[in-house]
Amino acid sequence: MRAIDVRDLMGNPGAGKTVAVDEPVPGLHLGLADVPEDTPVKGELRLEGLTEGILVSGVIAGHMRLSCARCLKEFDRDFDVEVSELFAAGPDPEGDEYALEPEGSLDPEQMVRDAVLLTMPFSPLCQPNCLGLCERCGGDRNLGECTCPERPADHRWAALEGLMD
Ligand SMILES: [Zn+2]
Ligand SMILES: [Zn+2]
Repeated sequence: MRAIDVRDLMGNPGAGKTVAVDEPVPGLHLGLADVPEDTPVKGELRLEGLTEGILVSGVIAGHMRLSCARCLKEFDRDFDVEVSELFAAGPDPEGDEYALEPEGSLDPEQMVRDAVLLTMPFSPLCQPNCLGLCERCGGDRNLGECTCPERPADHRWAALEGLMD
């Protein structure tokens, strides 16, 4: 993500500007969720000069590709996430501000990545009542009642069951 020149806002409390972003952000992967790297993340960021640094706020939106945690089907979902973060020239290492670049620019990429990763679901479902896969044959139970045999006629399983008794 391109850095934003903020020399006009630094040390200038009360000054502000709005910047549009529309770029892919690498590294947006979490388990069953993924924002493909050729998909842009878009938004409008409001930058405001404060005595402590620069406040960045706005809404970031895009599409994520999810795999259903029950049936493994892939599907897309739109997301939008609000951000409101302080960027400081010499951030407190214990604090949660982001760092301004020394030459007076602000790179929003890490902030955007952190915010989008937080909205990614750990267990996405293609539909709230997804029936998942048949535990015997692996068929998609959303497509209808499974007609596979009640018990697999596989003697290896029978042998295993004998061991467990
Ligand atoms: Zn599903
Ligand atoms: Zn089945």
